Amino acid sequence: MHEVSIANSIIETVQNLAPASENEYVSTVQLKVGQLSSIEIDALRFSFDIIKSKTSLNKAELIIEVIEGKAQCINCHEFFPIHSFATPCPTCNSYHIKIVEGKEMKIVSFETEINNK
Ligand SMILES: [Zn+2]
Repeated sequence: MHEVSIANSIIETVQNLAPASENEYVSTVQLKVGQLSSIEIDALRFSFDIIKSKTSLNKAELIIEVIEGKAQCINCHEFFPIHSFATPCPTCNSYHIKIVEGKEMKIVSFETEINNK
């Protein structure tokens, strides 16, 4: 399950960026996950929740925005939405296509809040 290592690296990245402070905690981490990234979102959430409990991100909530796949036909240059890799161009039926969006996974932002105690 490669979601475990992805969750691990998300947590490490945010820990490196977040100010190390006793008065502040990370409340949300926002991600963009491409539909064609081969990441299981449920598995990623599950892994994140398990790993975070032992870290300074233990209160962080994961917010995931799914990015729809988008491809360009190399034959007719048409752009079209794509949900799986083996999809032909809807205009000319060519399989000679290039994925332009939807394979990425990135951390968009995170928020911190002040501890009340
Ligand atoms: Zn085409």
